Amino acid sequence: MSKDKAFVTEITPQSEDFSRWYIDVIKKAELMDYSPVRGCIVFRPEGYELWENIQKDLDRRFKETGHRNAYFPLFIPESFFQKEKEHVEGFNPELPFVTEAGGEPLEEKLAIRPTSETMFGHMYAKWINSYRDLPMLINQWANVVRWEKRTLPFLRTSEFLWQEGHTAHEDEADARRETMQMLDVYTEFVESVLAIPVIRGQKTPSERFAGAVDTYSIEAMMKDGRAVQAGTSHYLGTKFAVAFDIKYLDRENTQQYCHTTSWGVSTRLIGALIMVHGDDRGLVMPPKVAPTQVVMIPIGPPKTREVVIGKTDDLFAQLKAAGVRVRVDDRADVSPGWKFNEYEMRGIPLRLELGPRDLENGQCVLVSRVTGEKKSVPLDNIVVEVQAMLEQIHAEMFDRAKSFREENFFSVDTLDEFKSAMEERRGFALAGWCGSDACETQVKTETGATSRNIPFEPSETKTKCLVCGEESKHTVVFARAY
Ligand SMILES: [Zn+2]
Repeated sequence: MSKDKAFVTEITPQSEDFSRWYIDVIKKAELMDYSPVRGCIVFRPEGYELWENIQKDLDRRFKETGHRNAYFPLFIPESFFQKEKEHVEGFNPELPFVTEAGGEPLEEKLAIRPTSETMFGHMYAKWINSYRDLPMLINQWANVVRWEKRTLPFLRTSEFLWQEGHTAHEDEADARRETMQMLDVYTEFVESVLAIPVIRGQKTPSERFAGAVDTYSIEAMMKDGRAVQAGTSHYLGTKFAVAFDIKYLDRENTQQYCHTTSWGVSTRLIGALIMVHGDDRGLVMPPKVAPTQVVMIPIGPPKTREVVIGKTDDLFAQLKAAGVRVRVDDRADVSPGWKFNEYEMRGIPLRLELGPRDLENGQCVLVSRVTGEKKSVPLDNIVVEVQAMLEQIHAEMFDRAKSFREENFFSVDTLDEFKSAMEERRGFALAGWCGSDACETQVKTETGATSRNIPFEPSETKTKCLVCGEESKHTVVFARAY
């Protein structure tokens, strides 16, 4: 058996076992490894660089919309969580505490932050005095901990990396404007950078963030038909302002409570982009965040090697100078075929092959990871050709993901219809809902699907609740979710 063939069999096909496929590719592509602490992972350089590229792009967008970064403590006094009733109920089961330090029990237990509304609330109460201090727009890049029972690398881990924006405003209108603005920023980023189409909408009350008045989300469909919540933005009303006494003197010299928001995305986005774009050969990295966008592989017999490698180095320098993330694999002891497989598995969007005959013709070959399309392009225009093909790959990835979502998006009128659909197929279901918790819970119990959101732009409006048959209040997207 050839080396190439043996290699491919190491990844479980998606159709055979999607979860197995996922673990196979992230381990084999060296994105992560398991740590000795249950539910925690190590981000290896390839995985961490993906996160750094996500961070860079998002950070620019946050700053363009007027936010600044700060850093708040990892430890939060236990009493802070008691101040907002819904918040404590939502987070208590997942909170780890430090109870002892320096060999002595602590006077007050310290929670390891699961999210920082309380700490921001405490500090904002000190920093905000007048309407002149508003809006206060701060973001934090940090790690957070939620003691999860069931974990899955990137998608659900006990410790993860994220950003959390926390803002305070004069009134509801301004805070709501901020909430929607950040949902727009997330939508634009996830679609135009990660090539993942999303469904924008509002969470039902049972799926709201603990302590929020309204939660909005973007939801993405994975290749097994399950949903990943890719980002959330919350309007918190005055709940945290009342709990932490965040007040300001308004233009009429009267004390008012601030209206606050919070919003976040996390390293779940890495899990999502893998599950949306990957295939049986391995990862497919979206070009705009791929740690390596182009891998260059010189080919041909030993006697032409020197001249081919010389030109490869020249092209490498040109691409690098143009800001393309490029690497060369000119190892002589590994076959080109093995390299092709290796970099396809690692999801590098574009391969550049250069051999002696190409060189004679003044061209090289570009190969798309997504479609396998091969294109001969002139060497003297390499930067433009590579950039154009990376753009094209991004567009194809988005279109493919969107078509997949459309093919696996269906509409149901009754719970029975939904149940039998979920036995036969995968995907998201659109259904009417009367607004009662009981009906929503019954959907979950009988199908394993939860309400993802109430989409802003449903493809159709459903008029009857799928469970009780009463008039529907909302048209909801239901799906099994990670
Ligand atoms: Zn109902």
